[in-house]
Amino acid sequence: MSSAIPDISIVIPVYNEAENVTDLVARVEAAIRPTRYSFELICIDDGSRDDTAYILQSLAAERPWLCPLFLMRNYGQTAALQAGFDAAGGRYVVTLDGDLQNDPLDIPGLVDRLEEDTSVDMISGWRKERQDRALSRKLPSMLANRLISWATGVSLHDYGCALKAYRGEIIARIRLYGELHRFIPILAAEAGARIVEVPVRHHARTRGQSKYGIDRTFRVILDLLLMKFLMRYLHRPLHAFGGVGLGLLIPGLSMLGWLLLQKLLGADIGGRPLLMAGVTLTLMGVQLLGLGLLGEILIRVYHEPEGRAQYRLRDVPRPKS
Ligand code: UDP
Ligand code: MG
Repeated sequence: MSSAIPDISIVIPVYNEAENVTDLVARVEAAIRPTRYSFELICIDDGSRDDTAYILQSLAAERPWLCPLFLMRNYGQTAALQAGFDAAGGRYVVTLDGDLQNDPLDIPGLVDRLEEDTSVDMISGWRKERQDRALSRKLPSMLANRLISWATGVSLHDYGCALKAYRGEIIARIRLYGELHRFIPILAAEAGARIVEVPVRHHARTRGQSKYGIDRTFRVILDLLLMKFLMRYLHRPLHAFGGVGLGLLIPGLSMLGWLLLQKLLGADIGGRPLLMAGVTLTLMGVQLLGLGLLGEILIRVYHEPEGRAQYRLRDVPRPKS
């Protein structure tokens, strides 16, 4: 490409997509080449067991804008995306799936919007006419979107859509762990991004297989719990654990105090169920308080060696909304 910093870095994780990857690269090129944007396509092979990696390598030989990355083994979609983000240098970063369910033709429109509207930092695709027929996919996803929007206050119709566009700075500010790629809008919102949702095209998967089953529903619920915890308590874990701890410790100590009084007055307390309850609650309360204090130390370890601030400044005052 002409300039060293491309306008758009397109990041696509692929795992066992040998049937799709050639078409994918061709369609991305066909979508972006006619526009005024320069681009790089970062395709991350997530340890595929089929020919995906070899096909990517041979495609890259004739295409300087195609940068394949080959992960050592299958790490999962989140780690693959993070590898792509770490390599992306573009002013804008666009992600999509490698199975051709997203349409690369949507990319220029999303980038145009970011270019024209400086009040937007991230655009999340909305598969308004979703082409996954099975109810076992659509129903959990509908419930998940409602639940996540309600629980986090970041309201989107479609958290599951991989087609998203970001300003490069936003991507540099977030780090993905576990399977948190589904929660990128929340991480981005926490990092100060202003997000809009835009309807995009969606196609049925015609080749290759989906990598996920129904069990992801449970993982999404656990991850939501994690996000909720991080949003509220990342910087004050003692309030979370210590709050519950005190809630157990105070009744526990009161029970033991009451029993001590009776003992001093000469009663036999050895067989009282209250004794068991008091001891259990006190022990649990102390442990939770300790856990909260440990959390407080950990958050200091997290911030201080890196010189990482626990706040972020704006360049200009926030626009009135
Ligand atoms: N993917 C990946 N690593 C994995 C699983 C999936 O890189 O361990 C890629 C996959 O090749 C595809 C994208 O992530 O490009 C989304 O996967 P899939 O289409 O199977 O998910 P679905 O559309 O069924 O939610
Ligand atoms: Mg798919």
